[in-house]
Amino acid sequence: MDLRKTRNIGIMAHIDAGKTTTTERILFYSGKTYRIGEVDDGEATMDWMDQEQERGITITSAATTTFWREHQINIIDTPGHVDFTAEVERSLRVLDGAIAVFSAVDGVEPQSETVWHQADRYNVPRIAYVNKMDRLGADFDAVLEDMRQKLGAKPIAINYPIGQGNSFEGIVDIIAGEELRFEGDGAQIERSPIAPERAEDAASRREALIDALSEGSDEITSLYLEGKEVPADLIRRELRKACIDHRLVPACCGSSRHNIGVQPLIDGIVDYLPAPDEVPPIKAFHLKKEEDVEVPCSAKGYPLGLVFKVQYDREAGPLCYVRMYSGVAKNASVIYNVSKKKRERITRLLRMHANKSEPLDEVEAGDIAVIVGMKLAQTGDTIGTEGWPVLLEKMHFPEPVITVAIEPKTLSDREKLAETLEILSKEDPTFTHKENEETGQLVISGMGELHLDVLVTRIIREFKIQAKIGNPQVSYRESISKAVEKSQKFEKVIASKVNAASLKLRVEPLPRGTGNRYTKAVRAPLVPNEIFESVEHAINGAFAGGIQFGYPAVDIGVTLIGIEYDELTASPFAYEACANMAYDAACRDAGPVLLEPIMKVDIVVPKEFLGEAMSLVSQRGGIIHGSETKATSESIDAEAPLEAMFGFTTSLRSVTQGRASFSMEFSHFEPKKN
Ligand code: GDP
Ligand code: MG
Repeated sequence: MDLRKTRNIGIMAHIDAGKTTTTERILFYSGKTYRIGEVDDGEATMDWMDQEQERGITITSAATTTFWREHQINIIDTPGHVDFTAEVERSLRVLDGAIAVFSAVDGVEPQSETVWHQADRYNVPRIAYVNKMDRLGADFDAVLEDMRQKLGAKPIAINYPIGQGNSFEGIVDIIAGEELRFEGDGAQIERSPIAPERAEDAASRREALIDALSEGSDEITSLYLEGKEVPADLIRRELRKACIDHRLVPACCGSSRHNIGVQPLIDGIVDYLPAPDEVPPIKAFHLKKEEDVEVPCSAKGYPLGLVFKVQYDREAGPLCYVRMYSGVAKNASVIYNVSKKKRERITRLLRMHANKSEPLDEVEAGDIAVIVGMKLAQTGDTIGTEGWPVLLEKMHFPEPVITVAIEPKTLSDREKLAETLEILSKEDPTFTHKENEETGQLVISGMGELHLDVLVTRIIREFKIQAKIGNPQVSYRESISKAVEKSQKFEKVIASKVNAASLKLRVEPLPRGTGNRYTKAVRAPLVPNEIFESVEHAINGAFAGGIQFGYPAVDIGVTLIGIEYDELTASPFAYEACANMAYDAACRDAGPVLLEPIMKVDIVVPKEFLGEAMSLVSQRGGIIHGSETKATSESIDAEAPLEAMFGFTTSLRSVTQGRASFSMEFSHFEPKKN
């Protein structure tokens, strides 16, 4: 495998911008070049749907491999809907570059902003693709301006449209200085010199590109100052550097549905997005040495990979999509799951293509493949070797904020359900399930109504389980508002032996979003380690159980600040019980608060319904941060407690005659009012 000829990319977009259509076209054109001769080019008039069925293009894989100009491109699926942020996060972790798709009519929409900033956080180099140039109102330059304004990005056009809307007929390649028109199903590209009426515009755009590049390139600057022609491949080379260094975002345009501009976009993946060894080495944590390590992307290193998606397959069992960062994973060998501290056997290794899967003997650093045979692996797990146990940084997943009860119809449904919930939570770490100890009732939790809807539908349809679903409930959290110190003694006679313990804890509120933290701040060399372990165990267990209402506790810091120890009466059991009592008592005195999830809400409405939509949000206790005028609609940026948002879709539909769209995602927890 040639690392320099590999690309791991994702395609990110607002819903409806054309991600699916664009992905299909990329797979179609690239599949065509790779298996040349297999496809009869005479079939060019065949209609797209037929072709797709015929070729069996599916893009349901979490990663699909295709080839272009002798490069292997692994396309990692990124979901469009914000209810699935966890999915976006996980795909951003494993890709090296991305295409951001925008609609030429709508520009930068709220969800694209969210995803763009997530990509910033993961330092993902990007190219921009402005799709739907054929639609009425399409405006390429306006979208680039929108990107500058809203995203703070620095897009630079590498091609631009010939005509827009109805008259969109092709593109001008600014770097090569040619016009491109796409014939038939788009596979044949007609290249011609730039027409005289476009010459001036093309020249000034080329100048803008060279100007943007000259800041970072002495070679270009000196050619430019000498008044010499800057060669096309020098431009591409320097633009590649600028893209990978996040200085510029190469931007191109097209209409995926009408087969215009897709191949230049695939060229853009090869030309501007980084190879796996052109991004900074991955950071990991060495468990034995307890230190951070940087792992260069090399097949010669120790094996190290990330399970970024688990998909359950009826026949094969769990399919684990793995991105290798170092070393090699071989078929029919044993691999070590570092996160679970368990060995597992690889029974099959697969590469997923658009229409088939291909067996592999091994997968090397920088590549992506599916491992079959790992039974314990969960999305987010690190795999590697026992001899060099390093853990990749944990993925950041948002908190499940919504809960529903699920009640199986029969005893056999109940058994199947338990298994199914295990499978689903391995696939999706933001989906959790729990049994109420007192009532035996099963509850499942997720990130939003839509998220749970999708999962419940799978449970019923795919896994064929009959169950009744309750009404969605908010999943609250508990915390404290001030620091308190508490001394606690414990004594109990069991089997005529005294079990005693004595310790002192401090509890304190931590900043929102920190999570819980236990620290041992006593030095007591005579106290055996198992005593400290039982204290820590007790506190970690207590965090899950809440304070007043039994909701999980968050953002609480607990410090062990004192311990008394008597060899004759001490027992781990006594210290565990004592720590529990101290924690409960301290938290009750520490101003306990109930926290509720606050959602970030984005609504897009036609202008005439702006007032109705806004007052609907206010009536429900939401706060409106602002609204923004678009060509034909208004977009509202608001936040509201999740509790107030149940059934919002229905109300919004009725006051806007079904013409508004809305999305929401978890933002943060806040003390519940009233
Ligand atoms: P996704 O939600 O981002 O995956 O978007 P889809 O690919 O499903 O496209 C959404 C809608 O836009 C579909 O009806 C497509 O047929 C349409 N669409 C996609 N690309 C284009 C385009 O280039 N021009 C036009 N006019 N429509 C397009
Ligand atoms: Mg889609």
